[in-house]
Amino acid sequence: MNGPGILVSWFPACPPVMPAEAGIQDLDYTIHALSPLTYTVLLAFYPAKMAEKFDALLFSINNSYNNIKRMSAQEKAKMMNSTQKNSYAAIFLDRDGTIIEDRGDLKHISQVVFFDETVSSLQRLSEFFRLFIVTNQSGVAKGVLSLEDVKKVNEYIMSYLADYGITIVETYVCPHARSDNCACIKPKPFFMKKAAREHNIDLLNSYVIGDHPHDVDLAKGVRARGIYVLTGHGMKHRDELTDNTSIARGIGEATELIIKDINERSAQERKREMIR
Ligand SMILES: [Mg+2]
Ligand SMILES: [Zn+2]
Repeated sequence: MNGPGILVSWFPACPPVMPAEAGIQDLDYTIHALSPLTYTVLLAFYPAKMAEKFDALLFSINNSYNNIKRMSAQEKAKMMNSTQKNSYAAIFLDRDGTIIEDRGDLKHISQVVFFDETVSSLQRLSEFFRLFIVTNQSGVAKGVLSLEDVKKVNEYIMSYLADYGITIVETYVCPHARSDNCACIKPKPFFMKKAAREHNIDLLNSYVIGDHPHDVDLAKGVRARGIYVLTGHGMKHRDELTDNTSIARGIGEATELIIKDINERSAQERKREMIR
């Protein structure tokens, strides 16, 4: 039985988000990263579901364990290397005031106005990064928007960008009001952590672009880098920023800053390799 023990510790540590916000479907993923203690707690909440999942997990662990036992040391090293290399840096984009004009609660796609530089900037960024949108839509909680409205607008934005070859991996929406004290409202890093788990995102090498101090704080919370843009509400909240925040006039300049930053980071990386 030491097989499963070893393997469980191979999975990246991730705090399970349970139970209300994540929903039972997230168990599929989460169970792979559970500590025995958490497992016991979840078992108390969802006995039938957990028993069924655990059987499946044991089966797959035994299979992988047998496969790994047969691997040579070289193959094992290669496997560990490839799991590290397969993580991606990402850009988490705010929606309103960052990639489109902030015109309040958007009920219809006819209200969507892209900034002139959005398409070219996202094309450039997608050469290096996976792109996500993270947006607070408290209009839903206030009853002025339906979730369906938000979904339609988001789908339009994603398909418009797709026509220019730009893939938005996911658009994450918090539909709550701040007073709801939910888990997902920015600057809480709920969706960034979700992206990290589900899309293998390396948050330390990722960036957030947004026109609200929440967007910058979102980045800080997971040690990613935040770029504050002065479009949208940008000018209004500028004074709330701490001194060392990178500020850009808009998405175009934010893109320039990020490309410059990754070039500097890789130059430093090369220097370190030479010293070694
Ligand atoms: Mg905004
Ligand atoms: Zn929320």
